[in-house]
Amino acid sequence: MKGHRKVFSGIRLILLAAAILAVCIFLPQPAVLPEAALTPASPALLKVDFLDVGQADCILIRTPGGKTLLIDAGNNNDYSFIRSYLLENEIAHLDVVIGTHPHEDHIGGLDRVINDFSVGSVYLPKVTTNTKTFRDLLLAIKDKGLSITTPRPGLEINLDPAVDIRILAPAEHTYNDLNDYSIVMKISYGCTAFLFTGDAEAVSELEMVHSGQDLKADVLKVAHHGSESSSTEAFLAEVAPQYAVISVGRDNNYGHPAPQIIDRLSARGVKILRTDEAGTICFISDGRLISVILHHSVE
Ligand SMILES: [Zn+2]
Repeated sequence: MKGHRKVFSGIRLILLAAAILAVCIFLPQPAVLPEAALTPASPALLKVDFLDVGQADCILIRTPGGKTLLIDAGNNNDYSFIRSYLLENEIAHLDVVIGTHPHEDHIGGLDRVINDFSVGSVYLPKVTTNTKTFRDLLLAIKDKGLSITTPRPGLEINLDPAVDIRILAPAEHTYNDLNDYSIVMKISYGCTAFLFTGDAEAVSELEMVHSGQDLKADVLKVAHHGSESSSTEAFLAEVAPQYAVISVGRDNNYGHPAPQIIDRLSARGVKILRTDEAGTICFISDGRLISVILHHSVE
């Protein structure tokens, strides 16, 4: 599933012009970005890559000002792919590393990322679990001399003045389900926005809906790999995404994504992109337009 990663060299990117859509209807703009604006060297782009790590999450974000964030790092055995991906993209430093919640499919490779790369700050929710994977992560953070920042709703991560990075969840109380501790984050650039949800379940989604926070986003990382326990109608109505990304393993044991969730998104006219079908999925925003780059065709 990950053997196709060599296609990521810039000259082999396949731009899906048909997937390039205007997202800011109130600004005059061309329907398609000029190709020159999509070259990796262009300085004023927000890039969001959903790495194909199977039944897990790993998202690389590069801001217009050249700052880097990594949200989750797949399962333990995804690390070699993640490492290669970062190196191929000439990334040696990660300004922010976020472990959305301490399940292996999110923090599995994070200890080795922290060991091997220069890291600015680490964000984890205020919850622990008694697994070797989690202990390995804490040890890596300690060995690197880093501290853990526990985000709360409304916290802004001031990384790049060009973008607004805001924490939406979890709230500052206890949850029954570890998934609901997932750090949920929204990144806005110009009039485009991305929402990252980890494995937040209905409980957290409805808290966000009732919090009055602005959840609107053009691209939604569908929570919990498309499980039917997330992606409530109320949440989707608030986010009102144009694209939904489902990070999911082919033929996984969980039945993810749930057919109900696919139907729910489709009924809203949301364009669904799945890592099990499309491989790694890359978005580029210039603040007005969002473009999608896929590395092999979606069937
Ligand atoms: Zn997960």
